[in-house]
Amino acid sequence: MTAHTLEPTAQDIERVWLEKAIQLATDSVANGGGPFGALVARAGEIVALGNNKVTTNLDPTAHAEVSAMRAACQELNTFSLAGCVLVTSCEPCPMCLSSALWARVDRIVFAADRDDAAVAGFDDRKFYDLFEKKPQSMWPLAIERLDLPSRTAPFDAWVAKSDRIDY
Ligand SMILES: [Zn+2]
Repeated sequence: MTAHTLEPTAQDIERVWLEKAIQLATDSVANGGGPFGALVARAGEIVALGNNKVTTNLDPTAHAEVSAMRAACQELNTFSLAGCVLVTSCEPCPMCLSSALWARVDRIVFAADRDDAAVAGFDDRKFYDLFEKKPQSMWPLAIERLDLPSRTAPFDAWVAKSDRIDY
C-alpha cells in the first residue's frame, strides 16, 4: 500500500467526462430528446453540456455535439474552441466532425461508435460513405454551380473591410 493518493491522470478525467456525456444521452431520452449527449471541456474543466434536440427543437442540426459547441462558444464568448476537448457519447457524424473542425477543437473523445448507433436505428453510415467515397451519383441532393459575374462581390467586400475580424 502506498501512503500517498495518486493524482487522476488526464485519461481518468476524460473517462469521467465520457461517463457524464453518456448520462446526458440517457437523460435526453427521458426528456424527449435523442439518445446522444456531449460536453466541451477546457483546461480540465467542463465548459458546456449538450444533448440531441433535433425533434424537440425541430432542428436537424441540433446534434449533441453541435449543441455543446454552440453553448461552449456562448460560455467562453468566442467562436474558436481551440484548446478544447469535445467529449461525446457516440462517434460524431460527418456534420459534427466538420463542425468540430471549423470550431478548431483540439481533441474528440467518444464511446459508442457508428455501428452501435446503427443498431438503435441511427444509421449515418451512408453519410460517412458519401464523404469517404465521394461518388457523385450516390448523393441524394443535387449540387450545381451557377457562374454569376457577382460571385466574388462578398469576398471583395470582405477583403476591402479594414476592421474585419479574421477567423
Ligand atoms: Zn452529429
